[in-house]
Amino acid sequence: MKKYLEKLPQELKRIIGLAAEVSEETAMPAYLVGGFLRDLILGVANFDLDIAVEGSGIIFAQKLAKKLKSGIRIHERFGTATLTLDNCLKVDIATTRKEKYPSCACLPVVSSGSLKEDLMRRDFTINAMAVSIAEGDKQELIDPFGGKDDLTSGRIRILHDLSFKDDPTRILRAVRFEQRFDFKIEPKTLALLKEAVGAGLLNKAHAHRTRDDLILMLKEKDPLKQIKRLGDLGGLSFLSDKLKFGKSTQDLFKAIDKEICWFAKNYSARRQLDAWLIYFTALLKPLSLAQLKLVTGKLGLRKGEEKRIISYCQESHKLIPLLSKKGIRPSRIFSLLEPLSYEEIVLLRSAGCQNKYLKEYITDFLEIYNGMRLYVSGHDLHGLGILPGPRYQRIFAQVLAAKLNGRVKTRRQELALIKRLIKTQH
Ligand code: ATP
Repeated sequence: MKKYLEKLPQELKRIIGLAAEVSEETAMPAYLVGGFLRDLILGVANFDLDIAVEGSGIIFAQKLAKKLKSGIRIHERFGTATLTLDNCLKVDIATTRKEKYPSCACLPVVSSGSLKEDLMRRDFTINAMAVSIAEGDKQELIDPFGGKDDLTSGRIRILHDLSFKDDPTRILRAVRFEQRFDFKIEPKTLALLKEAVGAGLLNKAHAHRTRDDLILMLKEKDPLKQIKRLGDLGGLSFLSDKLKFGKSTQDLFKAIDKEICWFAKNYSARRQLDAWLIYFTALLKPLSLAQLKLVTGKLGLRKGEEKRIISYCQESHKLIPLLSKKGIRPSRIFSLLEPLSYEEIVLLRSAGCQNKYLKEYITDFLEIYNGMRLYVSGHDLHGLGILPGPRYQRIFAQVLAAKLNGRVKTRRQELALIKRLIKTQH
């Protein structure tokens, strides 16, 4: 493994070197494991170090954090800790452990164990390898399940026949790694996966865990590929048996790819999009409101996430025709788009990407209308004898509409309009 480790960026080598010092000082054997090691062998950049410690992962992490002068987050209950460094590097440190699943899809009973036991509890052979961190060791690959072979041949393989029954979220993980690396789920694993899907095991898993793994799939580079494969394996029915990933949704995913790039290129300073939520909303769009609520409730999505999904699914069929017509006034465009989140706007532009007016209106909204501010303030209204209250909002909205439509431009014109409004509204 030395040849792989030598190729790592300097900063990672420094961290691993310091971890080796901690390992020697504490006499606790430590290993590089999991996705970091997998990606190291594959030659894929990965800046999330995964370290397993025989002894106490927490004590090890505290000592390493001191040497690195890094932040540390300890999860006492799981015997794990995460170190965060300034340069976006992350180090996950865990005590080696064994897991027992008392029954199907149940949370495991965890206790400390040897490295071998720690590798045995893992999902796939390609993620179940280790290499010692200690400098003196030959740093040979510890590969009890033939993970390196599977990496070379592009195979996703579970470690034992009950793997999907123990933890059905591995169904989603199998598809995710298969599609990410262009691998193949090997025949026996695939047969067991299909059996697990057929038995509805994804519905038995803890909802927050399936949700997290589903979100990870939607965060992958090519969500279309991910969801298509999951759908072909019948793995979407756990969300709703009404859900289809047909041609129109697939085309929508392709349009979303483009619109997310467009947004990132032009408006990256606004805020980072929750891109996964855009794809997920597109996937759920064909469902009725009742079915939607079942899905979002079952997954335990956050209120803000649920709100964006439901709002889009309910409003888009009205908004798209409204925004597809020529000559809509800016104030109208503003009032239609202003209540929407950026995710909904990007999805709307994707769904209406054939219509040049809709696209132009959305661009105008983001570039001009959304940032438009009035010169007048509450202070001015107060000066005109209006007491603070809901009337302020009404007046500001009317002045803003006039400004968007180009009827007022200067502060003086804004004030003149307010005076007229006050008169007519009395
Ligand atoms: P990614 O590249 O997507 O971050 P990863 O392999 O690093 O993938 P993590 O979710 O960070 O994935 O998990 C780290 C390691 O923990 C995995 O490589 C795997 O060995 C193990 N692991 C994670 N989830 C499971 C699971 N559900 N069942 C068994 N082992 C798991």
